[in-house]
Amino acid sequence: MVYVRASLALLAVLLLGLLTGRWLLVLLLAALAALVWDWINLRRLEHWLRLARKLDPPKSVGLWGEVFDGLHRMRKRSRDRDQRRRNLVRNYRDSIKAMPDATVVLSGDYQVEWCNQAARDLLGLRWPQDEGQRISNIVRHPEFVTFLSQYTREARMISLPSPVDGRLWLEVRLVPYAKKRYLLLARDTTALRRLETMRSDFVANVSHELRTPLTVIYGVSETLGQELGDDPEYARSVQLLQEQAERMKTLVDDLLLLARLETGGAPRDRQWIDVAQLLGVLVEEGRLLSGSRQHQIAMEADSGLMVLGNEKELHSAFANLLANAINYTPDGGRIDLHWSSDASGAQFRIRDTGIGIGAQHIERLTERFYRVDTGRSKSRGGTGLGLAIVKHVLMRHGAQLTIHSEPGKGSTFVCSFPPGILRYPSLDPERVTA
Ligand code: ADP
Repeated sequence: MVYVRASLALLAVLLLGLLTGRWLLVLLLAALAALVWDWINLRRLEHWLRLARKLDPPKSVGLWGEVFDGLHRMRKRSRDRDQRRRNLVRNYRDSIKAMPDATVVLSGDYQVEWCNQAARDLLGLRWPQDEGQRISNIVRHPEFVTFLSQYTREARMISLPSPVDGRLWLEVRLVPYAKKRYLLLARDTTALRRLETMRSDFVANVSHELRTPLTVIYGVSETLGQELGDDPEYARSVQLLQEQAERMKTLVDDLLLLARLETGGAPRDRQWIDVAQLLGVLVEEGRLLSGSRQHQIAMEADSGLMVLGNEKELHSAFANLLANAINYTPDGGRIDLHWSSDASGAQFRIRDTGIGIGAQHIERLTERFYRVDTGRSKSRGGTGLGLAIVKHVLMRHGAQLTIHSEPGKGSTFVCSFPPGILRYPSLDPERVTA
């Protein structure tokens, strides 16, 4: 059509030229008409692009008509795409708004950029008043503030009471995403926590009730041992009674200790502990425990490198690790205790040359009653609770347990303490060995 129109216009110019014979004038007039036509259409195009809000483009014919139609189609397609994108974003937002878990979008320095209704209900955020506020100004729980201050790009989790209602417990997760953004998610775990408390209360109560009759049985078994220990008819039975009574007593003591560790927050009675000194005592105890099995127990520790904590709890945790090293290392094997610090904090390492642990077991070792070899553990008087106690003691001190092991070669248990609870020696540390 465009070509037909152009050919007709050319024909008209030719005819006019032939009829009048004034070619130059006709051509000039034709060129002028084409220029005016283009100028008018350009003006209309510019006006439409700049001002006209309405969708319909100006009407025109020929090439300009096609240009207007093409632009109109492009504009419509782009508006449809924008609309679809807006709908998609709105749908996402609506679904996050409807989530029962609190969701807060935080900037790189933890300022609130957006939050859903659940965040207002569970974390006490006000929207839009709190937009741009630092989240630590709104949720002021000290543990949460410390949790935020440990800048890392890993996802992390903490449990704390809701700032809106102290009876509600929240599991709060901080998940980094995009370049410098965090997603703060909080879930109401009150019911779960209540169940967990009921479970540990039950275990603690049963253990407590068992303690008195057991003490009596244990006492009687000791008296019987003294009276009938030499009687060939009863000696074996009395010995069995004594052994089993002792096992049950150790089990109940461990269960009670674990229940106490689980329910309490950070340990009370905290003091500065000279770990090098504590290890000196442990080495002595270890040598006594090893007795005729003749393990070579050695230690190397930075004197004056102190930890703020509960001495009884840390003694119990380290003693459990040493008892395990002795129990699971063949007679005469080597066990090394090591205490030192680096930029990330301080580490207590205990390395043995024992039977080692298969990689598939390592993750589950700190579960209650998890044993790699039940028979071997029981024959050594193990309760299966030792590493669970270690884990809880360390957790209460903000420390972490890591286990490296190779079957047949030995294991290394590392307790890592954060710098916040350490006191470093004023001079270069002296190495204490034993
Ligand atoms: P247990 O009372 O059975 O020793 P723990 O909780 O202390 O219970 O340890 C759990 C299990 O981990 C043990 O049964 C044992 O199989 C394994 N284990 C712990 N320490 C060591 C170690 N140093 N070497 C080899 N295995 C170990």
